[in-house]
Amino acid sequence: MSETSTYKDKYEMVIGLEVHAQLKTNSKIFGREGCEFGKDPNTETGTITLGLPGVLPVLNKECVNMGILTGLALHSTIPSRCKFDRKQYFYPDLPKGYQISQYDEPICLGGWVQISNKKIGITRAHLEEDAGKLVHAGAAGLYGSSYSLVDLNRAGTPLLEIVSEPDMRSPEEAREYVETLRNILRYIGVCDGNLEEGSMRADANISIRPIGQKEFGTRAEIKNVNSFRSLVRALEYEFIRQAEILEEGGEVIQETRLWDDNAGITSSMRGKEDAHDYRYFPEPDLMPLEISKEWIEEIRSKMPELPDEKMERYQKAGLSEYDASVIVNQIEMAKYFDELLKTNVDAKTASNFLMGEVAAFLKEEKISIENSKLTVENFAKLLGLLKKGTISNNIAKSLVIDILKTGKDAQELVEEKGLSVISDESSILPIVQKIVNDNPEQVAAYKGGKDKLFGFFVGQAMKETKGRANPQLLNKLLKQELEK
Ligand code: ADP
Ligand code: MG
Repeated sequence: MSETSTYKDKYEMVIGLEVHAQLKTNSKIFGREGCEFGKDPNTETGTITLGLPGVLPVLNKECVNMGILTGLALHSTIPSRCKFDRKQYFYPDLPKGYQISQYDEPICLGGWVQISNKKIGITRAHLEEDAGKLVHAGAAGLYGSSYSLVDLNRAGTPLLEIVSEPDMRSPEEAREYVETLRNILRYIGVCDGNLEEGSMRADANISIRPIGQKEFGTRAEIKNVNSFRSLVRALEYEFIRQAEILEEGGEVIQETRLWDDNAGITSSMRGKEDAHDYRYFPEPDLMPLEISKEWIEEIRSKMPELPDEKMERYQKAGLSEYDASVIVNQIEMAKYFDELLKTNVDAKTASNFLMGEVAAFLKEEKISIENSKLTVENFAKLLGLLKKGTISNNIAKSLVIDILKTGKDAQELVEEKGLSVISDESSILPIVQKIVNDNPEQVAAYKGGKDKLFGFFVGQAMKETKGRANPQLLNKLLKQELEK
């Protein structure tokens, strides 16, 4: 296959994404069965999930609350009425033979997500139930060479499908959109955004068109992308595949394609159904849902700070845009940082430590900040000692590692190890004098114009004091002695 770049001057990608976010509820969308991830197969099931005859769905209010909250965070309109519809299809992992979804009256309409260079439009978001999972066992079994098992734990799990406008023009934009959306969903607490576990899944629609052409080309929908990296790779692959078809005078057909992460290719899974193939009709077992203004306002009043707002606040506190984004993009780190800011530490210094020594340690030990031994109080104490000038920056850097390892109190560590800065002249002067006396050659060279040697003297003095000499005072005394 060719390089993406071969066709980039000629064709443009048009990308629209359907993101399925699994809502973080305790129970399923239409019944009381639990929906925790990782349980033994078929233990999170019951009459509703199994679709036994005569049972009736009851809508889980929490799903509606989360749908509204998401809509508000995405600048959508929440219509005063929405309804549920049956989408018919036969799958072994969907015992009822239909999925309860929303079709023409979804819970959220319109909206947008801001990425760095533009707004990506949101078409709509609707509530629906997930299907179960087929486990393809592969090995020889009862019926010959291979067989499949059905696990219905996931069936009936609440999903919010968020459909974007075809507003993205590159895999990078698609990636940024999903990352931003994921962050928002995590911040508002409706979805844990775990692509690998499948609690967030993206289907990527992509078509291409000759640059300058207004009309969109025919799209393919790519399923099974379960990481940011595979999203980018799948889109790049698909761009080239479609470009080659057009170059050869062929036509792209509308279909669903499956991404194979190992092979790095997409392959046709099925022709794309049109809506009429699903025989949508209003779900007779559920009343249309009316959502009052009061309900919406109640949910709005619970809206937590969103990533964009946090970014702005951090930048006002003195962080660069980059630093702010690194912290905002890690929700646990951001929570921790917020607690830290409440203790009146210097924001910039705190973020330097967090993104430097602390992040490196956490990565190495594969732990998260909230599970580390560095409590907010102790970290604030350490930064306080640095601010007061009791300890130097380098010592603070090594102490933060000590605390991460042992959880010891910052103040006690400083006392125990005798690490406080030496700021009295009577202690530093003799050291400086000794260094000047012991290094006559360097002193002569320095006096002869080799200014750079000043650093050598500073180094010697720091070595002697184990980094504890007050730098300003040391500089002053050194200059004074060298000029004698
Ligand atoms: P379906 O259920 O048939 O997949 P949806 O309306 O749920 O239809 O989703 C269609 C998705 O495809 C949307 O994200 C939309 O932005 C995107 N899309 C529509 N037309 C095109 C196109 N020509 N090229 C790329 N993406 C498209
Ligand atoms: Mg769809």
